[in-house]
This record gives sequence, structure tokens and C-alpha cells, in this order.
Amino acid sequence: RHTPFNTPAEGVHKDYDMLHELGKGAFATVMKALNRAEGQWYAVKIVHVRKLKLREGWEKALEGGLPTDPDARTMLREIKILEKLKHRNVCQLKEVFLESHSIYLVLELVQGGDLMKYLLQKEADRESLSEAQSAHIILQICEALAYVHSMGVAHRDLKPENVLLTKDNPPVVKVADFGLAKVIDTFTDLQSLCGTATYLAPEVVIHGLEGYSQIVDSWSVGIIAFIIITLHREPYVNEKADEGLKTRVTTREVNWARLRSRGVDGQCEHFLHGLLEYDPTRRMTMADACLDPWLVAQAAAGLDIA
Ligand code: ADP
Ligand code: MG
Repeated sequence: RHTPFNTPAEGVHKDYDMLHELGKGAFATVMKALNRAEGQWYAVKIVHVRKLKLREGWEKALEGGLPTDPDARTMLREIKILEKLKHRNVCQLKEVFLESHSIYLVLELVQGGDLMKYLLQKEADRESLSEAQSAHIILQICEALAYVHSMGVAHRDLKPENVLLTKDNPPVVKVADFGLAKVIDTFTDLQSLCGTATYLAPEVVIHGLEGYSQIVDSWSVGIIAFIIITLHREPYVNEKADEGLKTRVTTREVNWARLRSRGVDGQCEHFLHGLLEYDPTRRMTMADACLDPWLVAQAAAGLDIA
């Protein structure tokens, strides 16, 4: 009988040797793991179902059917879509295992750490990234998103921690955690978004995530690009930590003066204005971003430097 997921009977522990922890997120632990049959290394992300308040009808999923709980059904369908995504700049999902209290996502192993760590290291070394080096990373993020958007999936939780890098020089970008934002969001409250409000499009913070399309990712990429270029983690002028989330986002203004003080090209500023457009209907799509003259020209130069 064809089952949509691997069940514990043919469990992840039979096929994979878990070596050590690679990282931890709010809902998951990620382990380095060896596929015994292939002799290949992977990252296994273990999502704790209990923490996602997902219980009702879950037994059905373990039997190979869809769970009765509509949210759980949605989540499993989303995961099946993620398995279809294949792109050089997308962290590949190989397979999924279910257990009563956990979901195991077997992912492509990406060894160079995440973009936040990379930028902090640059800061610690008192180095900055040239426009060309910055563009080389930003274009890869845009290409990952343009592809995934074309497949009908939005990321919705883009931040430097979810952008993984290989050890190559220049690094190859692998965007991770695709679609899972929606999944996680279904099972948690908006509280969980507060930690990452910096990257959220204004309309998301004001009205919540529901009903918004892929265009919310463009804002997040704009903020990530701003941070890469300026190496400054505060992209807004007037953000105060003690203010409520909504106030912060509705009153915040992008700190264009800081960008200009870096002496960047006017074309670069124009690119960022396209992404950091308050009106989502006028904001630049990821497909258009991939064709931006500044981004394309500088990214090509970025490849030559290394
Ligand atoms: P969460 O969804 O809970 O935030 P993440 O998927 O971001 O969890 O994983 C947590 C951490 O584990 C990441 O910040 C990263 O350091 C590490 N990690 C995640 N996926 C991979 C991967 N494919 N390869 C290597 N390390 C990874
Ligand atoms: Mg994450």
C-alpha cells in the first residue's frame, strides 16, 4: 500500500545514524546524520509535534492516511509540496518520517553555517562586504525565492538565520525553512513572530500573516540585503525596543541615510527601494529582482573576485 509518508515501522533510525547536534530552533533540533545505505551525510531536522500542539487525529497520519485535524492535514500537504522543490539555492528536503511525537525532515547538509553567523564574523574581523560580494549573496537568495514562488510556495519567515551557506568561496546560498513558517504559524500564536519582526513586511505585522502572498518575502529580502550591505543589524530609523510590535512597525522608517553613508551606488539604493516599498502591490517581485541591473552586474563581478 502506498503511504504518503514513511512511518516509524520503517523508521528514520533504521536508515540514518544520528551523529551530533548541528543547531536548535524554537521547534526543532537539527542533527548531522549518515544515511547508512548511501554513505552520504544529511541534516535531520526533528520537529517536536507536541510543542506544535498537534495531537488530534495524528494517529491516522502514522497509519499512512491523512490526520483528521484540518491543520495537521494542511501541514502534511505542505511538506509534500516542499519535497518537490529542487533548486541550487534551496536547501533540499529529501524525505520525511513521522513518529507519534516528532516529524523528521531529512535535509541536504549545508556545512558553512548561517548568514547571521557569517555577517557577525565579518563584523568581528572589522571587514565589510563589497557591493559585488553582497550582490553575489543577495542574487542567490532572490533566485531561490523566484523559483519557489513560481512553484506556488512562499517562505514567510525569511531572516539571516534561515539562509545557510556552503563552505565554498564565494559561498553558495541555500535558503532553508521554506514553507514551514506557514506550518508553524498554524500551531502557534502571533507571539512567535515578535522575535523576528525586523524582517516582516509592514502589512504582515499590522494585519497578521493570513491572506498575504509571496510578496511579503520581497520585504524580508530587502531588509536582509540592507543588513548585508551596511553590516548594521538595525535597518530602521526610529525603532524603540520598549514599544509594542505594531507601533514599532507602523512608525518605523528605513534608515536610508545609513545606506548612503556607506557610499553605495545610486542603482543599489534604487534596488532596495523596489523591495522596501510599503505598498505590497507596488513592491518588486522576486522574479523582477533577479533581473535588476545593479544586482546582476554586481553579482557577476562578485563571482570574479573570489
Ligand atoms: P527552526 O525552524 O526551529 O528555526 P532551523 O531549521 O532554523 O530550526 O534549524 C536550526 C539550526 O540548525 C540552524 O540555525 C542551523 O544552524 C542548523 N541547520 C538547520 N538546517 C541545516 C542544514 N540543512 N544543514 C546544516 N545545518 C542546519
Ligand atoms: Mg530557523
